[in-house]
Amino acid sequence: MLNQAHTALLVVDIQNGFVDGNLAVSGSAKIIPVVNQLIAQFDNVILTQDYHPADHVSFYQNHTGKQPFDTIELDYGMQVLWNRHCVQGTVDALFHSDLQASKAQLIIRKGYHRDIDSYSAFMEADRRTMTGLAGYLNERGISHVYVVGIATDFCVAWTAIDAVNLGFDCTVITDATAPIDVNGSLDKAMSDMTKAGVKLMTYKEILV
Ligand SMILES: [Zn+2]
Repeated sequence: MLNQAHTALLVVDIQNGFVDGNLAVSGSAKIIPVVNQLIAQFDNVILTQDYHPADHVSFYQNHTGKQPFDTIELDYGMQVLWNRHCVQGTVDALFHSDLQASKAQLIIRKGYHRDIDSYSAFMEADRRTMTGLAGYLNERGISHVYVVGIATDFCVAWTAIDAVNLGFDCTVITDATAPIDVNGSLDKAMSDMTKAGVKLMTYKEILV
C-alpha cells in the first residue's frame, strides 16, 4: 500500500518526440497505458518535459561532420549527440496525446539551457545546475519517488540515481519504461541503478 502523502509518481518525458517523433524510442508507445494506470493510483504526479532550444548543444545537426549517437567532449564531460528533438514550441515537445497528463501537479522542463543537456529531472548534465525538483519534493514532504517513462537507460536512470544521491527513496517501475539501448547503455544503466540503491519493481507489484 502506497503512503500517498510521502510518495510521488515521476513520469519522465512521455512526449511525441520520444514516442513517435524525432527521437522515437522503440516500444515506448506500449508503456503509455501502463503509465496511465499508475497515474490513477498515485495522488501526487509529476511530469518531466524535455524542452530544448533549436540550437541546443546535444543535437548532431549543430556540429559539423557529426552523426546521431556520436559523442563529443564538453566542459562537463562526454555528450552523446542526438537527432534534433523536443524543440520548444513544436509538436515534438508536447506530451503524447494518449498520456493522462492532466493530473500532474508539477511539470519539470529540462534541457532549456543551450549549452547543457539534462537527462536527470533533478540536476543538469554539468552536475551543478539544479532543476528545483529536490527542493519541491522536500518542501512537500515527499520522500519516495517512483519513476517511469522514457528512456530507461538515459533520463529514467539518471533521474533515479540522482534521487537516491539526493536522499530520496527511489523505485523504478521497469516495465513502465522503454530503453534506447545504444552501445550497451541499458546493461550499464541497470547495473548503475542497482549499485546506487535504486529499487526495481514491476507495475503489477504497485497496482492494487
Ligand atoms: Zn533531449
